[in-house]
Amino acid sequence: MKIPFLDLKQVNAPYMDALKDAATAVVESGWYIRGSYCERFEKEFAAYCGYAHGVGVGNGLDALTLMLRASIELGRLEPGDEILVPANTYIATVLAVNAAGLVPVLVEPDEKTFNIDPARLADACSVKTRGILAVHLYGRLADMPAIWKFAEERGLLVFEDAAQSHGAKNVAVKSVAVAYSFYPTKNLGALGDAGMVVTDDEELGRVVRMLGNYGSEQKYVNKYRGVNSRLDEIQAAFLLAKLPHLDSWNARRREIAARYVSEVKNPLLRLPGIPANPEEHVWHVFTLRTPDRKTREALQKHLESRGIGTLIFYPIPPHRQDAYATGLGGESFLLPANPKFPIAESMAETVISVPVSQVLTDAQVTEIIGALNEFVC
Ligand SMILES: *Cc1c(COP(=O)(O)O)cnc(C)c1O
Repeated sequence: MKIPFLDLKQVNAPYMDALKDAATAVVESGWYIRGSYCERFEKEFAAYCGYAHGVGVGNGLDALTLMLRASIELGRLEPGDEILVPANTYIATVLAVNAAGLVPVLVEPDEKTFNIDPARLADACSVKTRGILAVHLYGRLADMPAIWKFAEERGLLVFEDAAQSHGAKNVAVKSVAVAYSFYPTKNLGALGDAGMVVTDDEELGRVVRMLGNYGSEQKYVNKYRGVNSRLDEIQAAFLLAKLPHLDSWNARRREIAARYVSEVKNPLLRLPGIPANPEEHVWHVFTLRTPDRKTREALQKHLESRGIGTLIFYPIPPHRQDAYATGLGGESFLLPANPKFPIAESMAETVISVPVSQVLTDAQVTEIIGALNEFVC
């Protein structure tokens, strides 16, 4: 592939010396889990996100699960409570709600933003609804002001899955907690698995920390039935070395996305919008839509023949997965035998993402634009 969808080696290459120094320092320190690098990265990343506390965990799925579980342990949610989540998210969002003992209720996305549609929240609510888990899909912030307003009226807790939106900052209002993944392909990626929960709620952060450490904060004294999900020192050291560059990477992604939006003029392709405040999008992926599945297949082949890598996020929505063949869980929420979320399903059939990472050269971007404009079906 001449222009791969994402080349992680190339992403990390400019920082090779800093990464090697970080690894050496950790190896020589003799302390490998939740030590001083973890503590520093928690502080710096939480501050970067505008939150008071950060708790490093093993991965993004655990960050999601543990922030919800902590809310249950603190009595703010109860097992079986319903949590609204977008129907077109990555399955991890939905799995986390299940894993915490809560019931995910799917809400259709807005076609213009790919994010949960605030206008559809009311219809999805039942007497058991207690929270909303918003996802900033593809790197674009969900409509948080509308979500917060709705949540306030109904007394719901708001959580965020920010696994695709490092650096897209929410202003004004904050959520109970925000979960991040540092999976290597994310905008801020480790060299392995890593995740974090950021929150302003010290108590919640403390319980997340305990839950990720066997439910314990004092050795061999276990307050909760926890799990083992901790942030490795070596990953924290890598992430500390990479964090100062995140804003410049995101700026480059915005530059590339803006070129696609203004220069791709193929009537077969529907391009994503740029938010009124461009800072609300960090373009984790650049996703466009075709009129139907067959056109998407043809486009994918066409781009492949030009040496351009593409990926589909995501080809099968969570509710269509075998994992959820019997419904999304909970006695109180029995899905109809054949659940229908037509917007999410149509997205799964027609979305396709093209390269947008910061390592692309202007010439490569020009080449991708040319290939998109020359596509016929
Ligand atoms: C990557 C991702 C996750 C899961 O993160 P992991 O670190 O892979 O567990 C959760 N939600 C979304 C939206 C993601 O993109």
